[in-house]
Amino acid sequence: MGLIKKPFRPIVLALVGIILTSSFIIGINMNQVAPSITNLEDPYVTIFRGDAEYGLMLSWDDGPITDLMMSYLEDRIGVTHTSFIITSRITDYVKLYMTDLLFRGFDIQSHGLYHEYLGDESDLDYIRETLNQSIIDIQHHFGFIPTIFAYPYGNASYEESKIVLSLFDVGRGVMGESIYRLGEWPNVYRKYCPHSLPSADGICDETVSMISRRFNEMIEPPDPTMYNPDSKLWDKSVNESTHKMFKLYGHTSYSFLNRSSWDIFIDEMTEILSNNRVWATSWGEGFAYEKVRAGTTISQIERGEDVISFSIDTSVDISKYPIPVTVKVEVPNDWDVGSVIIGEKEVSVNEIISIDNRSYIMFDILPNGQRVQIRNVPSSDSEPPQIDSLTMRYLANGTIFTFNAFDASGFITDINVSVTIDNSILTLNNIRNPIFWGNSTYGFVIYDHIENADIMITLEDSNGNVAYLVEQI
Ligand SMILES: [Zn+2]
Repeated sequence: MGLIKKPFRPIVLALVGIILTSSFIIGINMNQVAPSITNLEDPYVTIFRGDAEYGLMLSWDDGPITDLMMSYLEDRIGVTHTSFIITSRITDYVKLYMTDLLFRGFDIQSHGLYHEYLGDESDLDYIRETLNQSIIDIQHHFGFIPTIFAYPYGNASYEESKIVLSLFDVGRGVMGESIYRLGEWPNVYRKYCPHSLPSADGICDETVSMISRRFNEMIEPPDPTMYNPDSKLWDKSVNESTHKMFKLYGHTSYSFLNRSSWDIFIDEMTEILSNNRVWATSWGEGFAYEKVRAGTTISQIERGEDVISFSIDTSVDISKYPIPVTVKVEVPNDWDVGSVIIGEKEVSVNEIISIDNRSYIMFDILPNGQRVQIRNVPSSDSEPPQIDSLTMRYLANGTIFTFNAFDASGFITDINVSVTIDNSILTLNNIRNPIFWGNSTYGFVIYDHIENADIMITLEDSNGNVAYLVEQI
């Protein structure tokens, strides 16, 4: 996606509607030579998506319209952000823009009902009520419960912070960070830039050009961490991480990041991402990922001659956090092809990763108690994904399209849409299932009231099977 080529590409991008099953397919080719498995490490859950070494989380406040404009620049470099929104200001236009963001993998979280300063310990009941209303608003308009709150003006008193943390996982502050950011998730966080940039207000025009320098300050010297096989147990904790998280926050609106500096910002981000070991994502996804990952356990590992299997589960409520985590499993060196069976679904692994003469398979999975089998045979799934229930409705100056897409025997990895209106073709190729929805609904937004168009939706699954939906409206 975008300009950034990463060596570790998540194999499965969307894992939804997974059916738990106790039966799994045994399809091992017994004629193959048994590999030596004595040198295999245990499978482990990596720290960041795609086995990245560093995380970068991005958020913007207050400016849904400018956030939307910025999102198209971010698309170019494969980055998403969280938009912290003020829920009393959700108009039809804001709802349209934010829905567009959600359908492209971006995230929305709460910046309060009225953007009120929380630093003076005023009426605490009122604070609780308004914060709770912002949660209700996001749930009502966007269909999920927000997990992060950004303090308006970056601050809160101790008592007010406690209320925030009784309602949200994270209170994102700027000022008074050391004590008032208590409860920032997860509490085992190791290193991060306490302020990504010098200004207390976030990214300012005069400092936006310092982002990559700040990032490099954070990551130097390199931290020789990663998984230590000597300390492992089969059911091992995945909490011991010294990975570093670089957090960026600011405003895309004129008060902090002027349009003139947007290009500088994108250049700075491009510089950081050229590192190739960075997972850049939204605050919402980044924190949720860490939460799920930290609660994930792998157990009941079994090794056959050409198969490795295990169970994977998490202590986190997966219906509230339907976030797949990346699993990287060492496989015998003579494997040149692989597939993963997750419940009743299959994933072709096109790439055996080689690191220091050891071979690995990597894939994303929703850790909800499923049995996983990894084999050195290609996937046998030849069933295409399915798509139905295309709907459309007008909102503000746009048309929102939604549809259901699912795959009984694989996972949907790519969805592209082309819309032909009169003689012009609009192509949308970044269609996602919103991060926190946990269902199989996808969608896209067109900024026009569409009355006559030819719509073609193309789906590809994790095993290369393709399906189409063509519809005239
Ligand atoms: Zn604000």
